[in-house]
Amino acid sequence: MSHSLQLQGILVTSFRQRHFSFFSRHPSARVSFSSFICGKKLEMEEVKVASELLVDDPASLEKKIDAIRLGGSQKLQVIADFDATLTKFWVNGTRGQTSHGLVQQGNPEYDDKRQQLYEYYHPLEFSPTIGLEEKTKLMEEWWGKTHALLVEGGLTYDSIRQSVANANIAFREGVSELFEFLEERDIPVLIFSAGLADIIEEVLRQKLNRSFKNVRVVSNRMIFNDKGCLVSFKGKVIHSLNKNEHALDMAAPIHERLGDMDGPIDDSASLKKRTNVILLGDHTGDLGMSDGLNYETRISMGFLNHNIGDSLSSYREAFDVVFVNDAPMWGVIKLVSRICSSGRFLKTKTLIASRETMSENLNSDLSASAL
Ligand SMILES: [Mg+2]
Repeated sequence: MSHSLQLQGILVTSFRQRHFSFFSRHPSARVSFSSFICGKKLEMEEVKVASELLVDDPASLEKKIDAIRLGGSQKLQVIADFDATLTKFWVNGTRGQTSHGLVQQGNPEYDDKRQQLYEYYHPLEFSPTIGLEEKTKLMEEWWGKTHALLVEGGLTYDSIRQSVANANIAFREGVSELFEFLEERDIPVLIFSAGLADIIEEVLRQKLNRSFKNVRVVSNRMIFNDKGCLVSFKGKVIHSLNKNEHALDMAAPIHERLGDMDGPIDDSASLKKRTNVILLGDHTGDLGMSDGLNYETRISMGFLNHNIGDSLSSYREAFDVVFVNDAPMWGVIKLVSRICSSGRFLKTKTLIASRETMSENLNSDLSASAL
């Protein structure tokens, strides 16, 4: 398995946003990185780009924006991958950790065993010579063994809290603002991950410092006993190759332990009626996250975090918008703001206020007619 990022001095000038005026142009950027994965140091790389945001077909994107605007807030939902999509790829100069990768069981023997599984299965996951059926079986095997080790090694909820506190993980700048913007308009966000729901929720709790009633996590969910020890997992395993099968049926409200939740704004059935989608992912496989939904219009936004030289063309084909250089969420917020600038996307408070005004007017009309 190669741990080296191969990119050296890629200059992306021919894919600058064309006729795509609502995004501000970014100046050329020079970024240097170094990192460790599996304890091995990655080579320094340098990426030069003319823009962090690339749109291959602006006319098609404009059409999709218009269609979603027309549908209004009640038809829209956001589906987002978690690792390296909502979270940054590079954190403090090193590769950021994933929800699976950050777990420290407080038992080095089991941490090593899970690492050995990673080193065996991770190359198989990306092997071009293994067919999808066989690869799917391998992924089920990998996830199953990893989950069994978490149970066998005596993972506790306290160690999850501690692992997250110590983890090298951070959200992209603007994630909290994006969630808040969508929450104000009653637009749900479904975080769909092959990672671990309980870890993702703990990361949300610790790193965002507030909860959002519109955010739900669909991922592998743990069951703890009264002593806070992991005893099993709920439902069917979600791994990297079946993220399309359980999207909405396995959706559950964010963890009850948050305490200050107002409850989910949508159940699974009503989410399925939201047939316009903004999809965020960092892998072309993430596009499958909306497969369980019979969507009408989808705008897909991809974060291309590494191997840019090899992957840029496939990402440009696959996603409506591509972000490079570990971009923040501001581009996504700009697009969402533009969609929501129509009168069909009023803030909830504005809606309540206008309903109250209507009600007051009606009451006053009724009083007047009684006189
Ligand atoms: Mg990801």
